[in-house]
Amino acid sequence: MIEGIKRRFFMAITFPSLPFSPIDVSDWISSETLDYHHGKHHRSYVEQVNQLIRGTSYEDASLEEIVLQSEGELFNNAAQSWNHSFYWLGLGGRSSGKRLEDYADLTRALKESFGTVETFREKFTEASLGLLGSGWIWLVENHHREKLEILQTCNAGNPMKDGLRPLLVCDVWEHAYYIDFRNSRANYVSGFLKSINWGFVAQNLSPRRDLSLPKSLRASFAEESRRWLRPVLTLY
Ligand code: MN
Repeated sequence: MIEGIKRRFFMAITFPSLPFSPIDVSDWISSETLDYHHGKHHRSYVEQVNQLIRGTSYEDASLEEIVLQSEGELFNNAAQSWNHSFYWLGLGGRSSGKRLEDYADLTRALKESFGTVETFREKFTEASLGLLGSGWIWLVENHHREKLEILQTCNAGNPMKDGLRPLLVCDVWEHAYYIDFRNSRANYVSGFLKSINWGFVAQNLSPRRDLSLPKSLRASFAEESRRWLRPVLTLY
């Protein structure tokens, strides 16, 4: 009984619903892929996290805290859970009727970093095709938005581990596209780039800050990251 009283409520990590209607991506990804990818793969990662954290010091931690602090099997499952939530949130923008050009701040950041929006798309595609095996292709912001960058992570890799701020991610594990595109990652990525929810990407940009300010007057990155990591997952 004492055990029962002392024991805190187990804060399970939530398996999120898809943040868009399958119709919004139906000209790119089938319902069958969504059922497998979201309903089986993603769900399984979340279930495994919850099994692994039960009775450990991570029991009451948020998913992003687990991603940032864990290693090994727990990290792999936690990062796969986070990465998938982030992937879904970046998709299905078509029903909003908004295009990238409607987000001036984001468009400007892309142009400043890559020259043109078209160059960004080309480099994102190149990075996707150039990653051998399973992984993720990210658009990230380095500290204080000095530059946006495209990067590849293998397996469950997550750029938050390196202090980078994710803006968008494309899942290039074969399970993301094999049912619809067989081995053609190129066709899958081409469709991905047309299905992005740019409002989500724009919302992930940090506020532009004045880099002429002394460092002591800028928020520390740790404080900053607590502010911006949390809203990503509390959308559910
Ligand atoms: Mn996946």
